[in-house]
Amino acid sequence: MASVTVTALKKKFGQTEVLKGVDVRVPEGHFAVLVGPSGCGKSTLLRLLAGLEEADTGKIELGDRDVTRLEPRDRNIAMVFQSYALYPHLTVRENLAFGLKLRKTDAAEIEKQVKRASDMLGLGALLDRLPKQLSGGQRQRVAMGRAIVRKADLYLYDEPLSNLDAALRAQVRVDIRKLHDELGATSVYVTHDQVEAMTLADVIFVLNKGQVEQSGAPLEIFDKPATKFVAAFLGSPA
Ligand code: ADP
Ligand code: MG
Repeated sequence: MASVTVTALKKKFGQTEVLKGVDVRVPEGHFAVLVGPSGCGKSTLLRLLAGLEEADTGKIELGDRDVTRLEPRDRNIAMVFQSYALYPHLTVRENLAFGLKLRKTDAAEIEKQVKRASDMLGLGALLDRLPKQLSGGQRQRVAMGRAIVRKADLYLYDEPLSNLDAALRAQVRVDIRKLHDELGATSVYVTHDQVEAMTLADVIFVLNKGQVEQSGAPLEIFDKPATKFVAAFLGSPA
C-alpha cells in the first residue's frame, strides 16, 4: 500500500475545465471518500488516478513515486467500477483468475490468490457458477474479487453500490470497509451519497464543480462545514 498525493491537478475536456486544480492527500492505509453532486468531477479524478485519462497539469504521487505520466499497468492500482464488468462466459473462478493469467502468473500462485480473494469475500461456494447464475450482490462481490486478487498499492471504487437495492447496499458497504481493513489497503471511494461517505470514510473530500471545497474527518466536516455548499450538501445543522 501507499499514500496518495494529488497536487494542483487540472483536466479539461474540450473547453470545459472539469478539474480546476485539485489537491488530495490520503495517508497510507486510510479510507478516503470523494463525495459531491453528479457532474462535479469525481469519476474524472478517479480515472486520472488510475491512469485511464491523462492530466493536463499537476501531479499524482503514490508514496514517493511520481505516477502522473505512467500507463495504468505501471501504477499498481486496482479499480472497482460501477458496472460489474464480469465476463459472462467465464465462471467466477475464471473471472477472478483472468487478470493474473494475463500477467503470466503461475498456476499455483493463481490458485492461492483466487482462494485468498474468494475467502475474504465469501465466494467459495460460487466458484464454478457463471455470472448469470449469481444475484446482484454476489456479482458485485466477484467484481471486487477481481480487483483484490492482485495486491495493489491503491484500491479505487467508483460508486460500486449504485446498481444494488437498499438492503444489499448496506450489506456490501459493510463488506467493502471490512475488506479495506483486512487488506490493510489505501482506498479512494467515490459516491454522491452523503450517508455512504459519512459511514465509510476516515477522511472525506467534498467536491464541487471540479474543486475540493473541504476535506477532513467526517464528523469534523459535518459539525463545521466551511461553506454553505458543504453545509447544504451534507445536511449539517444550521
Ligand atoms: P461525476 O463522476 O462527479 O458525476 P464526471 O467526472 O463523470 O462527474 O464528469 C464531470 C464533467 O466532465 C461532466 O460535466 C461530464 O459531462 C464531463 N466529462 C466527463 N468525461 C468526459 C469526456 N470523456 N468527454 C467530455 N466530457 C466529459
Ligand atoms: Mg461518476
